Amino acid sequence: MTPDARNAMKRRTFLIGVTGLSTLVLTACVSPAPRPSASATATSTPAPTPTVSPVPKPAQMRRTSWSADPFARGSYSFAAVDSTPEQRTALAQPVLDRVFFAGEATSTDAPGTVQGGRDSGLRAAREIIAAAAPGERIAVIGAGIAGLSAARILKDAGFDVVLVEARDRIGGRIDTVSDKKWPFPVELGPSFVSHSDTTSLDEEFTRLGIATTPFPSASETRTNAGIVVAVPDTGEKAVATALAWATKQASDMSVQGALDGSGASTLSTADAGDGVSAADWLAFRVATVLDIDAGASVDQQSGWYTSADAGANEDRIVLGGYAHLLTKAAEGIDLLDSSVVTKLAYTDTGVSLRLGTGESLSADRVLVTVPLGVLKSGVLEFDPALPFAHRGAIADLGMGTLDKVWLQFDEPFWSTTAPLWTTVGGDEDFRVWINMMPLTGEPVLVGLVAGDTALRLAGTDDATVLAAALRGLTPFYVPPTPSPTPTPAP
Ligand SMILES: Cc1cc2nc3c(=O)[nH]c(=O)nc-3n(C[C@H](O)[C@H](O)[C@H](O)COP(=O)(O)OP(=O)(O)OC[C@H]3O[C@@H](n4cnc5c(N)ncnc54)[C@H](O)[C@@H]3O)c2cc1C
Repeated sequence: MTPDARNAMKRRTFLIGVTGLSTLVLTACVSPAPRPSASATATSTPAPTPTVSPVPKPAQMRRTSWSADPFARGSYSFAAVDSTPEQRTALAQPVLDRVFFAGEATSTDAPGTVQGGRDSGLRAAREIIAAAAPGERIAVIGAGIAGLSAARILKDAGFDVVLVEARDRIGGRIDTVSDKKWPFPVELGPSFVSHSDTTSLDEEFTRLGIATTPFPSASETRTNAGIVVAVPDTGEKAVATALAWATKQASDMSVQGALDGSGASTLSTADAGDGVSAADWLAFRVATVLDIDAGASVDQQSGWYTSADAGANEDRIVLGGYAHLLTKAAEGIDLLDSSVVTKLAYTDTGVSLRLGTGESLSADRVLVTVPLGVLKSGVLEFDPALPFAHRGAIADLGMGTLDKVWLQFDEPFWSTTAPLWTTVGGDEDFRVWINMMPLTGEPVLVGLVAGDTALRLAGTDDATVLAAALRGLTPFYVPPTPSPTPTPAP
């Protein structure tokens, strides 16, 4: 595919087109999977200057650290510098018609999304049905949307299906916490359904009676001083110019390289109104769209294959629990949970899986749906090693990180009813917020961080993340109206 063909690719757009405590309960952070110490590495992103925010402490907090999750090792795949979309197709190729691959990273239409994961599972199921004899035993590694979607089709087609899952739950990166402490389901993984003309996920939610509601693509944007500002097209144009320039270059480069090389990043730092400069608007576009879309910094994203129209799709937000999407698909399927596959040996006649417990499992064929981050880590050994094209794809494609912090307040400290908030200027870690209040009536906010910032915060404690989150919320803080001074009795 030529760089220009990237525009034909579906971008992952689950979000935005950004045109103390009463009693603080720091509930368990991260998804419930076993966690090693944070794998996050220190990055060059400068830590913001700590300041104390006037924002009151939330009653509850829940945070994720997907980079430290051993069964995800990141949040979703992205187009890294020097990777190509063809590598997703290469990664999806069956090996000896015995080892099949699915998962969001193998999707060319909707990589990095639930839709992409689901479609890849359906595609792989079709491939297996075409290759296998009736009644064969098929092992599916990974009970995320890709593995479950495939397992359902294969089971219904009469195969002997066993689903092998490392966690003690199904869903993978779809991780809904339905906890009495929270007034509604908390999504630690995906919250959004991107509209896509190639999938029918929306219809699936409707069919299953899972509540979703439209989510606006435009945010309320504030300066550090709390002034509401209209988002000019300065940043969007600079990025479009840089990416158009990149496609004309002989080799790929990072989006940052394209911004610099094209001159698009040479923007004035002078106040262009409300204390915001043209350069601030570019940094805003990068932080609130590009970084979030890829889960990676612009110096890691491909100048050739990063989409210039990021953030333009309309989305719906799931309120009724994303994980309910999976319950029905899992019915009647043999599930080996808490079973980590450590080795996959294959020949042209069958496959054998070794589990972390030392046990083994044989099957006629296997579908591998573990995340790209897990494949990159090498903790799942293939014997013999995968073909060169698969290994190249695993090495070159990027695994990004998006983390969330959920905060429940006793009372709203804000006055806006906008569901999506962003901030421009300054160097706060949290610049994108979802306001659940207009959607649910509950004073709950969800902060998003991506890329290097997410990796840095993943290595810090809850108090540090909370302080950073509250600082990021400061522009939305409205001081309580002082109660009237009592008139002295005559
Ligand atoms: C914070 C966050 C926000 C997101 N937001 C959105 C959004 O709003 N909209 C959207 O469409 N997408 C979003 N995504 C992306 C989306 O969640 C994923 O693309 C999708 O869920 C991936 O599904 P999958 O089946 O490919 O992988 P997974 O769900 O990761 O499934 C793979 C499974 O393999 C298991 N596994 C791993 N290693 C082993 C092993 N060695 N042995 C056995 N099993 C193993 C894992 O435990 C997991 O269950 C988000 C992701 C994150 C993390």
